[in-house]
Amino acid sequence: MQNLYELTHADLTARFAQWGYSHYFVDLVWHALYRQRVQTWAEMVDVRRDVLEKLQAEFTLPQPVVQIAQKSSDGYTRKFLLAPNGAPIETVIMQFKGRYTACVSSQVGCAMGCIFCATGQMGYTRNLSAGEIVTQVLHVQRVLEAQGETLRNIVLMGMGEPLHNYDNVIRAIDIITDHKGLAIATKHITLSTVGLPHKIRQLADEGHSFRLAVSLHGATNAVRQALVPVANAWTLEKVMEACRYYVEKRQRRIFFEWALIAGENDSAENAHAVGRLLHDIDCTLNVIPLNPTNGYGGAPSDHAAVHRFRDILHNEYGIRCTIRQRRGIDIAAGCGQLAITV
Ligand code: SF4
Repeated sequence: MQNLYELTHADLTARFAQWGYSHYFVDLVWHALYRQRVQTWAEMVDVRRDVLEKLQAEFTLPQPVVQIAQKSSDGYTRKFLLAPNGAPIETVIMQFKGRYTACVSSQVGCAMGCIFCATGQMGYTRNLSAGEIVTQVLHVQRVLEAQGETLRNIVLMGMGEPLHNYDNVIRAIDIITDHKGLAIATKHITLSTVGLPHKIRQLADEGHSFRLAVSLHGATNAVRQALVPVANAWTLEKVMEACRYYVEKRQRRIFFEWALIAGENDSAENAHAVGRLLHDIDCTLNVIPLNPTNGYGGAPSDHAAVHRFRDILHNEYGIRCTIRQRRGIDIAAGCGQLAITV
């Protein structure tokens, strides 16, 4: 039996064609799944009985089970420990200026091992399927709907390295953005990667139009390798070559992420190194003071260091540099804090 949430609209159309059903029936089922957001076959009341029987014979409709739901003390962040297919993962809803963003996981754990990241500290267990990624988004939509709100943005910044699970992530984005279903605009989706050069090139070649964010954290190989072990295999030069290829091929801006760690990568010298690295590429640099994790002793940069860093980039190199707000720290829902907590 196959998970029905794994199918793109095109897949479902092809399957229905084999069964001799027209587009009309495909759209009815798709509408039930992604607009009505039914969770059981019994709720598909608009779908004809013979179609439903065909589906039930070949597909499952698995729903993630909420094991723990937490809300931050300021009320802006909620974190859910979900268990799709028994594998626990975390999904986060963040509210900024009245708009809602889902931070979605792509793997159980992560193989990249960034030393400051709770997910990296867990190690890698397995990839999530496309359906397991899609049902996180459906869960968030249902939670928001219950309070009269809608989901606007999705960031693939939860547990896992999305480009290490490339095919499933791209398939999930195809399903999430389908205009007859969830219809999340691609410009409202950000895929965040630690920087896998061959996969960044693949994204560029395939012409995907969601946003790409690359975590740098170091502007020299020595600084980066100390924080991001995979930088030993994929040097900064290779990552930047791939990023430049992406910007040129796609003719669109790229985003870089930088966790500011006191005394590690937040000096004026570090800022100048970033400026020299990025001054001639169409980009925005998002900096965020480090979020604490049990497995790493580093501390977030203080207010003065964060602003000095931003000011050097902005004033001396003309680089757009935004300081991201730290959110959900008290429930370990901030960037780099997601890990299984049961
Ligand atoms: S920061 Fe991202 S890539 Fe690095 S270990 Fe954590 S989840 Fe993996």
